[in-house]
Amino acid sequence: MAASEIAHPEAEREAHAGRPKPTATRLRRALQLFMVLLVLVIGVQFSRFVASCLDPRLPAVARPPGVGGFLPIAGLMGLRHWLATGRLDAVQPSAAVLLLLALLASLLLKKSFCAWLCPIGALSEWLWRLRAKLFPRWPAHRLPRWLDGVLMAPKYLLLAFFAFFIFVAMPPRALEAFIEGPYNRVADVRMLAFFAHPSTLTVAVLAGLLLLSFLVQNAWCRYLCPYGALTGLVSLLSPLKVRRVEEACTHCQACTRACPMHLKVHELGAVRSPECTACLLCVDACPEPDALVVGPGPGLKRPRLALAALALVLLVYFGGMALAMAAGHWRNGIGREEYLRIVPPAMQRYPVQDGETDGTRSP
Ligand code: SF4
Ligand code: SF4
Repeated sequence: MAASEIAHPEAEREAHAGRPKPTATRLRRALQLFMVLLVLVIGVQFSRFVASCLDPRLPAVARPPGVGGFLPIAGLMGLRHWLATGRLDAVQPSAAVLLLLALLASLLLKKSFCAWLCPIGALSEWLWRLRAKLFPRWPAHRLPRWLDGVLMAPKYLLLAFFAFFIFVAMPPRALEAFIEGPYNRVADVRMLAFFAHPSTLTVAVLAGLLLLSFLVQNAWCRYLCPYGALTGLVSLLSPLKVRRVEEACTHCQACTRACPMHLKVHELGAVRSPECTACLLCVDACPEPDALVVGPGPGLKRPRLALAALALVLLVYFGGMALAMAAGHWRNGIGREEYLRIVPPAMQRYPVQDGETDGTRSP
């Protein structure tokens, strides 16, 4: 197989039929599915919450605090506020909590958020697997290294822009004003309105991104996501990384062909790259049980590695969320009366197409 071609993970697995089941991949995909369903449940509940604020005749629905996970900018603002004051803001606390947990997980186990929890990462992966099923003969070419590097620049530029604006250019008073201000209080509602009434340009961009993920493996995560760029940079400090044991390795390159982030695992002693998502596809693809390990010392091997990775990810995210809830840093401090006042104008800012109703109350 040419160096610029990669095997589809399914084909790779078939080639090694009879070996122990790739448990890391199974566990990871089960968690991805759970997270996508969880996000859908949160999205539906948030839509019902907004509808109940628009129409008081509907039964009152509580705002799901997990919606803060859809607000990465509010999360960055909250992170700076927390670093400066030691307090989490009371308007979108869950946004900052979820960002902090993503950074903590990256500090421990590479950018595991992307491969284990992110619903967009899961969608990206599903599209790529769908392509492999629908068009098994399409070769999955890798871009030349220089072009791949150039295309990675936008996510770091986006991250640099947001980081400069929030951490350097914004005076502390402006940050406080933003956090307490009217925009931040309905940032989640505006986001819903944005997707509920998308412009033609929004639809075209979303369709383009879906198509791109079908043609280029992990296109969004690899080239455009500033959240992934941040977790990737933090992951450089991670002590847990995939390591190759030279004595056990046969240089078959199955690990490199399986790697969705196009890393040359078979040439590396340890995978230090900020692109590694700790997906463990390389470990599952390796025919030698002792050739790829994770962690310091002798390291963990499959199948214990898969369970340990899952336990760590669950502990950081769901343990962290439970702690935030117990400490009162999960639900925001905005009462229902205020929401009844601020939600309708936030939804009305977006134009409604002819023949459609936006469900807002009559004046
Ligand atoms: S680490 Fe495993 S999959 Fe990679 S080259 Fe060595 S033996 Fe092959
Ligand atoms: S090196 Fe292994 S764990 Fe890291 S992204 Fe590639 S396949 Fe996943």
